[in-house]
Formats: sequence, structure tokens, C-alpha cells
Amino acid sequence: MINLYGLPLHKLEQLMLDEGQKKYRATQLYIWLYEKRATSFDEMSDISIKFREVLKEKYCLEIPKIHTKQVSSDGTIKLLLELKDGYKVETVLMRYSYGNAICVSSQVGCSMGCSFCSSGLLGRQRNLTSDELVGQVLVMNNLLREENKGQRVTHIVVMGTGEPFDNYDNVMDFIRVVNAQKGLAIGARHITVSTCGLPDGIRKYAREGLQTNLAISLHAPNDELRNELMKINKVFNLEKLMEAIKEYEEIANRRVTYEYLLLSGINDTLEHAAELTKLIKGTKGYVNLIPYNETKLCDYKRSSGNRVHAFLDYLTNHGVTATIRKEFGSDIDAACGQLKAKCEGKL
Ligand code: SAH
Repeated sequence: MINLYGLPLHKLEQLMLDEGQKKYRATQLYIWLYEKRATSFDEMSDISIKFREVLKEKYCLEIPKIHTKQVSSDGTIKLLLELKDGYKVETVLMRYSYGNAICVSSQVGCSMGCSFCSSGLLGRQRNLTSDELVGQVLVMNNLLREENKGQRVTHIVVMGTGEPFDNYDNVMDFIRVVNAQKGLAIGARHITVSTCGLPDGIRKYAREGLQTNLAISLHAPNDELRNELMKINKVFNLEKLMEAIKEYEEIANRRVTYEYLLLSGINDTLEHAAELTKLIKGTKGYVNLIPYNETKLCDYKRSSGNRVHAFLDYLTNHGVTATIRKEFGSDIDAACGQLKAKCEGKL
């Protein structure tokens, strides 16, 4: 069974042509799926009963089930979703003044093995399919609609569990579905993919012709420290990463966001800030400082507020645009992998 939610419009059009249907049938289905939010083929009254039977035989319209739901005092919603084969993934909804942002997972677990990240420590089980990625947004949209009719997901960050460029094709299909005008119509500038720094993925992404954003999990300003925190750096070091970023900036004509997690006594001194400034100087990117969400699975501690502000001041005084990431849902295990780890008895 092919899940229709995973198909970008051009793929669905090809499938309809293969079925002996008109290309327009695909747009008609998209309108049923995303505008009218049909949950069964029987509702699709402008499609012949005969073709509806064909659709029922070969295609399905399934979204993941909610296994656990937590709502924070700040309105953040964290879901543990259960997939068809029983695997579970986390999805988080954060409320900003400008809209509702969802943080989607791209894989069940992760194989990148960053030393500070609980998802990485649990290993990777499998890639998520494009319909499971779209499904995370649909589940959240359903909850928002229950709350208030006009509400919907307006922003997407692919920053949940998993490395999106290690599941490249499914993530690109997902982006095309959510971005499509007749799909979920989420603007490209409202979609961000975050990578631990896979140069081939960055180069490919640069050539997708998308106006979506790219965030790079940098976290360390030199190879020695980055090797310690992110083992992927031993394969693709900072020189290779920075080369790929420069190519991205040129080809996509977009600037990246550097994510920099502040870990107490590890990467948060002014010397590190100076090194970071030097490292990214030749690029147009800006820095997003992330307060660390402590987890029992790792020994790292978050940097003090003073340290974070001193780091920020150094950057801004040296011509680097930088911000501190706003925190959500700290009362509901909102950091990556924590709800899942807790539900599976690992926390
Ligand atoms: N694999 C991708 C996307 C998923 S991780 C990537 O590496 O970018 C999303 C972000 O959360 C990354 O910047 C990651 O380093 C960070 N992160 C992981 N564990 C964290 C924690 N406990 N607290 C704060 N940020 C964390």
C-alpha cells in the first residue's frame, strides 16, 4: 500500500498517469487530502466510485497514532507518536508570537552519536518515510484545530531526532508536500533543515532550488573539540564542512544559521568565542546559541546565564550576528529524545 501523504505532487501526477487517469486527478486528491482533510476515499465525491475502489486497493491515508501527549505550562505540546511497526518518534509544537512551529523527527533514533545528545546515544533503528514525516504535521494540525478552528502549523524545523541528510530523499519529498500550494502551503522561508554537517547533503540541498533554510550544528570551533563532541567530525572535519557551507551560500544564495550549544566548561569560554568568530568569518551565517538541556544520559552541564551572555557579547562585539535560542517546555522533557527515553525506561 502506498501512503498518499508521502507523495509530492509531481510523483502523484506520474502515478495517476500510470493508472490511466488524467494528471489533474493528482491535484484533485491533494485538495481532498490537505484542504478538505478527507480521512477516507469514500468522502471524495468528485472521484468516480470505480476509481475510488482502485485507490482503496492500492493506496492508504494513514497518519501516526498518539502514544503519549504532554502539554507544558507554556503551551508547548510534546507527542510521542507510534508508527505502524511499533517504533516511536517524538514531535514537538512550540508557540511563538509569529506562529506555531513544529519540530519534526527524521529518523527513529540517530546514528551520528553526538556525545551530548540522548537520541544519538540510543542509536538509529530506521529512516522515517516521507508520509511519516508529513504525518507528524497532520497530527499536530488536528490537535490545533481541536483547540481553535483557525490554528495550524505555520513553521517547520527538521530538528527532532535523526539526521535529515542521512534520510535525504524522504526529507526532500516531505518538504515538497508541506511547501506545495495545494499541499500544506507552508512557506519555504518557514521551513528549516538542521544538519550535523554532512557536506554531500549540504551540496545537494544547495541545488534543490528551494528557498528553505539550513541550520548547521557546529557546537565547537576547532577539530579537536568537535571530534570529541560530534564523532561525524572525524569523517568530515571543519575544513570540509566550511567548504560545503561556502558552496551552499553561493549556489543557493542563502545564509546558514550556526547552532552552537553551550556546555559548561567545555566550549563556552571567550577563547572559544574568538575561535568561532574566526572560523565563520568568511561566511554570511549567523549564530544561534543554544542553552543545553541537561539529560541523565549525559554528564554535560548547561553554561551559566553569565557565561552565555558573555559569549553572546563577544560575538556581537566582533561583528557576528548572534541570538540566544528561546526555550520551550522545559517542564515536559522537551529536549531531543528525552520523552522517548523516559517512556522506554532509559531515563
Ligand atoms: N541531526 C540534526 C538535527 C537533529 S538535532 C543536527 O544535528 O542538526 C537538533 C539540534 O539539537 C542539534 O543542534 C543538536 O546538536 C541539538 N541537541 C541535541 N541534544 C541536545 C540537548 N540535550 N540540548 C540542547 N540541544 C540539543
